[in-house]
Parts: sequence; C-alpha cells; structure tokens
Amino acid sequence: MRKKILLLGSGELGKEFVIACQRLGQYIIAVDSYEGAPAMQVAHEFEVINMLDGDALDRIVAKHQPDIIVPEIEAIRTERFYDYESKGIQVVPSAKAANFTMNRKAIRDLAAKEVGVRTANYRYATTLEELQNGVDAVGMPCVVKPLMSSSGKGQSVIKSTEDIEKAWKYAIEGSRGDLLEVIVEGFVDFDYEITLLTLTQKDGETLFCPPIGHRQERGDYQESWQPMPMKAEHLEEAKKMAADVTKALGGAGIWGVEFFITQEGAYFSELSPRPHDTGMVTLGNTQNLSEFELHARAILGIPVNEIVLERNGASAVVLAMNEGESTPIFRGLDKAAIIPQTDFKLFGKPTTRPYRRMAVALAFGNEEVSDLVEKAKSVASLIEVE
Ligand code: AMP
Repeated sequence: MRKKILLLGSGELGKEFVIACQRLGQYIIAVDSYEGAPAMQVAHEFEVINMLDGDALDRIVAKHQPDIIVPEIEAIRTERFYDYESKGIQVVPSAKAANFTMNRKAIRDLAAKEVGVRTANYRYATTLEELQNGVDAVGMPCVVKPLMSSSGKGQSVIKSTEDIEKAWKYAIEGSRGDLLEVIVEGFVDFDYEITLLTLTQKDGETLFCPPIGHRQERGDYQESWQPMPMKAEHLEEAKKMAADVTKALGGAGIWGVEFFITQEGAYFSELSPRPHDTGMVTLGNTQNLSEFELHARAILGIPVNEIVLERNGASAVVLAMNEGESTPIFRGLDKAAIIPQTDFKLFGKPTTRPYRRMAVALAFGNEEVSDLVEKAKSVASLIEVE
C-alpha cells in the first residue's frame, strides 16, 4: 500500500504530516513556492512552483502521476482539482472541500445557507459603497476580512462610520491572489474560541478530538491548549455543526473546524480541510494519535476506532523578530530543554521575517491547561531566533 502523495504546501504542518506518512511507508513529493521549505526536508522529492498557476499544477501532476493530492494551504488553483479527481486521483479531503475553502465566500454560504449552521451575520462587498451597505445590514461593531488572505492580513474591526473607508483600504491591501472582495460580518462577542478537530473516514464514523482552545493575535494563534473546558451542550452543538458541514463537503481526512462560543451557544466561524495550526498541541502526545497521524490514516483508509485524550497539553509559538536571509540560529535551547514535561519543535525554515513562526513550544501533563499554557509560554520565551 505504498502510495505516491503530492503535498501542496510544505510548511510546518506539512512537515509533520510527511513524518506521519513516512512512518506508514508512503512516498511523498513536497511542493512549495521556495526551495528548502520544512516539509521538503523530510520528503522524497520536491517541486518549486507557484501553486496559483493552474498550468504549473497540471505539469507536476502529469510528471509525478500521484495517487493522492494533499493540499496544505489555501492559495492553490483548486479549480483544477475537480479534473484530477475525475481522472481517479484522490484529492484530500475532496476537490469540493479544497475548492470551497480556498476563499471565505463559498464555505460561508455553504455553512450558513445550505447546511444552515449558526454564523455571524455577513455580507460581501466589492466596492466601498457595497461595504457601507453591508455595515448597515450587519450592524456595528463588525469585522472586515478579505475573502482571500492569510494570517489575519487585511482584517480590521469597524466601530464607527469613520472606520469604514480605512477598513476597506486595509482589506484590499491585505488581499492575496486575484480576488478583490471582502466579507463584513457582525462582531461576535465570544467567551472563547475553539478548534474542533474533526476526523472523517472512508468507511468509519466521524470522530472528534477533544476541543482545543486558543488565543489569537494579529490574526495568528499564539497559544493553544487541549482540552478546552466547556459546557457539554456547547460541545455537542459544535460537533453536530462540524459533522454537518464536513459531510456537505465530503471526503476523508482531518478538519480544523473553528467556532466562537457565546452564552447562546456555538457560532461556526471557518474551517480548514486539513490539520490546523492550533492542533500542533497534539504533538505533545495529548491524544493517542496526533492530528497529523489522524490525517494520514484517514487519507490512506486505515480505520481509526477512537480518539482519546492521553494527557492535557498546551502549545506556544516561537516567532522571529527580524528579517533574515541566512539560516537562523536558535539560542536558549539548553535552558528551555531542562524544564520538565515540555518539548519544542524547530521547523527548519531557511529565512526569517518579523512574526514568522519558526518553532513551537509544548507543555503536557495532568496540570490544569491554564498552567500548561504558562509553562509552554515560558519555554517559548527562552528560545530566541537570531
Ligand atoms: P479568521 O481569519 O476569520 O479566523 O479570524 C481570525 C481571528 O479574528 C479569529 O480567530 C477571532 O479571534 C477574530 N475574529 C474573526 N471574526 C470575528 C468576529 N466576527 N467576531 C469576533 N472576532 C472575530
């Protein structure tokens, strides 16, 4: 059962996925826009292309003839996936899932209108005037986000009419790809937010990982912890929504389904049809199988009977501070390494830029998750990227 897997996107999540696949004896070709990306360092072969270029994608698919295509990022010409799928290539989790989550519009409409889960009120806008109308419709405060962006780029909150024009300009500047459209949605005054890692299987039932809590800054996660203590009814509600949305998209794999939790219950926010960055906490062996091992198994059709919490855990990111063109040096590892019940993973990214995620610190055990978060943060703070 050695499959040829074409991995599109070779960041730290891709790297851990490749390691999980290697342990199951698979053959991997890792793809990204630059050479030396983390997942390339542990794969059999690599390709450097612009994944938004459909012809370039066609070329490497024709060259490698993969059994399975695994997208690790959103910025891919995913329209081509339908064609690959019709030719018998397994697209993970499905061509529809990858295509619908490429930008915020298709997935939001599917969740809110077709599946009917609770989301914030929202409108779309392609001009400043449409944005003004959208703000009137959803009310203030509201959040503006480019339909295509990453890491919170271009995202801002509108509190008063004066903010609208600024939010429009900021969103358009922060847009990625060729799509200049934004979503404006009501601000959800949530108590906390979670990622519900959801496992869909070829022949088995849909399973859920214990919920992961996380804190965001500048649109990127800073710390995550598992399990997030929450009311059973809110968790059940989130599980139902996650099962419904993933079913509508189809296919097998792990999904990071994000929810805002309020007193009234769960609001569906968005979803990644692949391992989620906040799920790196599972690298601390918080579960019987990490999110990467679960993804690999689901894709290969290896049944997963159960997902159980083995111990509590927390993760905290290690960010670069400066622009750097040469291989970064990590300092303080000796001090970080001696803290009991902790660990760290260095991603091996070849260069740095401000706020680029370079490593992750982990803490685990039977302590309360709030204490584990503090511990993971102190490990992260001891590691310096130069
Ligand atoms: P997103 O890129 O949509 O995941 O947004 C990044 C982060 O911004 C979320 O994890 C929330 O912390 C915050 N955020 C996004 N949308 C909203 C909203 N409608 N209400 C409140 N906070 C939000």
